[in-house]
Amino acid sequence: MSNGFGFSRRTFLGGMAAAAALPATPGIQSDTKPHVAVIGAGAFGGWSALHLLRRGARVTLLDAWGPGNSRASSGGEGRAIRAVYGPDRIYSEMVLRAYELWEALARDTGRKIYEETGALWMMGKDDSYVRAALPILADLGFPVENPGVAEAAKRWPQIDFSGVVNIYLEKRAGALMAREACAVVRDRFVSEGGDWRQAHVRPGKIENNSMQSLDLGDGSRLTADHYLFACGPWLGSLFPDVIGEAVRPTRQEVYYFGTSAGRQTWLPGALPIWIDFGRKIYYGFPDIHGRGFKFADDTRGAPIDPSTAERQLTPTLLAEARRFISRRFPGLADAPLLESRVCQYENSPDGHLILDRHSKAANVWLAGGGSGHGFKLAPAVGEMLAESILKDVKTEPMFGIDRLGRTSKGTQFEKK
Ligand SMILES: Cc1cc2nc3c(=O)[nH]c(=O)nc-3n(C[C@H](O)[C@H](O)[C@H](O)COP(=O)(O)OP(=O)(O)OC[C@H]3O[C@@H](n4cnc5c(N)ncnc54)[C@H](O)[C@@H]3O)c2cc1C
Repeated sequence: MSNGFGFSRRTFLGGMAAAAALPATPGIQSDTKPHVAVIGAGAFGGWSALHLLRRGARVTLLDAWGPGNSRASSGGEGRAIRAVYGPDRIYSEMVLRAYELWEALARDTGRKIYEETGALWMMGKDDSYVRAALPILADLGFPVENPGVAEAAKRWPQIDFSGVVNIYLEKRAGALMAREACAVVRDRFVSEGGDWRQAHVRPGKIENNSMQSLDLGDGSRLTADHYLFACGPWLGSLFPDVIGEAVRPTRQEVYYFGTSAGRQTWLPGALPIWIDFGRKIYYGFPDIHGRGFKFADDTRGAPIDPSTAERQLTPTLLAEARRFISRRFPGLADAPLLESRVCQYENSPDGHLILDRHSKAANVWLAGGGSGHGFKLAPAVGEMLAESILKDVKTEPMFGIDRLGRTSKGTQFEKK
């Protein structure tokens, strides 16, 4: 479970202190504004575009199918936000900053994009992943409770805690309305003066350590000073030499089961987001916005082509989900399947993000590797990238491209 990087690395909040001192728009004159093209309006690209704009750049945001589209990794209904990240303090700090930015977005736009539910960690004997995070969360002001199994059974009678040894309730945690939030970010970007285009993009030629332009689907070209490719599961195929198989898209199924009419048991307030660390890692959400009780298996699925895949359910996986739910949430044993989704994780070899400059083009930046846990972090990711691009500074080494060749085994546990 350890990520092998330890606690001593430069912290995110430390790195962002200088950024926090910046005015929102530093007053760059329009003729000297750097022009940045951001390709991909998922969580990473959308937030990056907004931060770049607010730091005075001229920004064009492009996406082949639109923000939070049904092929994108950000295209689900909901994504968990929580700060437990084992010993990886940098992510917990990013979550703290991300909360500020998600909340500011919700406030500024009047849109409800977050539902606070808390996160219930149901652990077996080995609870080292959560335990390692406890001092970090205490330091950052995230409250965590550690009820015993008997107490938990009283608080959440809808859960059968058999086999669970340690229970933690992370109180400041919940669900972000994923695809909707991507559209809100894009709308905000446009309302603040950004240039949005729906277009398929092919990276242009790289010559003399620089990308010259982009080829757009309508046959036109777009030239900018900097290019940021935030292309999620497509990043490897767009940059086969630099990223290639270091971004591995895997097929993930998500199910929504119907809860009984009028029962509070499965609603936020009565049931937190839950993560079950048994032989496998399963997780799910209470019934948010009437979509149903969400269930997902964190096990990495088969390889998937995000452009061409038929997104149909696998009966054996659905049957496995029903078996687990009948045991852990007996009241849902006969719950009907209401909706389902086939999405994809965009896994890096060690589960850490990829945020770095292209090794052969100084004006090209690559962002991805969300690895099943990136969504919540996107506001902080975008801020980090905007700083790096406009101030020409290196990104955090643990997110660097250089490491990709060196990492052979996954160090992040597989559910974030
Ligand atoms: C089932 C599932 C559950 C998850 N659960 C969580 C969770 O609980 N919490 C959490 O924090 N994270 C979670 N994640 C991970 C998170 O959703 C992703 O890490 C994050 O959404 C990735 O965002 P992105 O912007 O990198 O990629 P994407 O959202 O895939 O965006 C990339 C965009 O690039 C566009 N694009 C690609 N190629 C081109 C091109 N050539 N031209 C133009 N546009 C292009 C695409 O259309 C797309 O919109 C989950 C992911 C999945 C699939």
